[in-house]
Amino acid sequence: MSEILIMGNMPDKSLSILKAEFTVHRAVEMTNFEKFLAEQGDKISAVATTGFVGIHNSIIEKLKNLQIISSNGVGYDSIDATFCADRGIIVTHTPDVLNAEVANTTIMLFLNSFREFSFNEAYVKSGNWKLEGMAPYSRSPDNRVVGILGMGRIGQEIASRLSIFNPKILYHSRSPKDVPYTYYEDLETMARDCEVLICITPGGLQTNKIVNEGVLTALGSTGTLINIARGSVVDQTALISALKDKRLGYAALDVFENEPNVPDELIHMSNVIVLPHVGSATFETRAAMGDLTLNNLIEFKKNGKVITPVPECLNLNQNT
Ligand code: NAP
Repeated sequence: MSEILIMGNMPDKSLSILKAEFTVHRAVEMTNFEKFLAEQGDKISAVATTGFVGIHNSIIEKLKNLQIISSNGVGYDSIDATFCADRGIIVTHTPDVLNAEVANTTIMLFLNSFREFSFNEAYVKSGNWKLEGMAPYSRSPDNRVVGILGMGRIGQEIASRLSIFNPKILYHSRSPKDVPYTYYEDLETMARDCEVLICITPGGLQTNKIVNEGVLTALGSTGTLINIARGSVVDQTALISALKDKRLGYAALDVFENEPNVPDELIHMSNVIVLPHVGSATFETRAAMGDLTLNNLIEFKKNGKVITPVPECLNLNQNT
């Protein structure tokens, strides 16, 4: 195992580490990627990619000797892991090392939404404070009923970091977890019972648009939707309609259906906060994610095992 294909960009430091271990081919530097796949695809035994870039099955099919895909990011909905596992290709991701950062970003969205920091900052910078006097009051983040959709690694970290605001925490996932919060089997019922709905599930077919018109309407005219999961989890058209019709009160969004395109309606609504998918985007956390991405590749090269396989590939890691 010695030739690697890198999809997307990679920091120089990581590239030099990989170059010490593998012969590196970079898709972004190729003028004719199809020609490369046809002529040299058979030599590639490893792929490094990211959760944003992923890798399409049609490319994987052309890499006949591929053994491992190491993806930077915990979400891997851009890679068909079942397709890979069926072909004996092990897929890895970067869980846990980003839990704290993504939870911090969620808390930031939660606080910003309730205390309206974006509005208030613009109020000063636009000169409105001088012209119009004191800014309007905002809502307190304390003592809220918060529903979390997805009580996994990050969902649990969010719940823990929210605790200083004394919330009542409800959650929905396909099965109950060993956590001290109230489980709801039905998402729409939970949305009716909470004031804030935080989405932190994986993307992909299973969760596609599960936050639909019914869920948004149930959350209600004073309710707040926070989406830090994937754009695909929320029906964006239904979200825009619900906000316009005042069936939903507020939205705070890190992710969108067709990134980096954000609909004008969302950009211009004063009750909507938008971020450019920066949930884990700090120097420190991105460095930790980058290290884990490389270490999965290096461990596999040395020992035939990886550190953090995706669940679909657990068996491959045990059997190698
Ligand atoms: P995780 O530990 O696997 O947790 C996922 C949770 O979602 C589990 O509680 C799971 O429980 C639940 N879930 C899965 N499918 C579901 C469904 N169909 N309906 C309801 N609940 C479902 O994953 P994690 O590490 O917390 O990460 C979660 C996701 O956050 C990632 O996959 C990624 O998409 C997103 N993320 C976003 C950013 C960002 O920058 N905005 C950064 C990191 C992660 P059950 O299996 O019991 O349903």
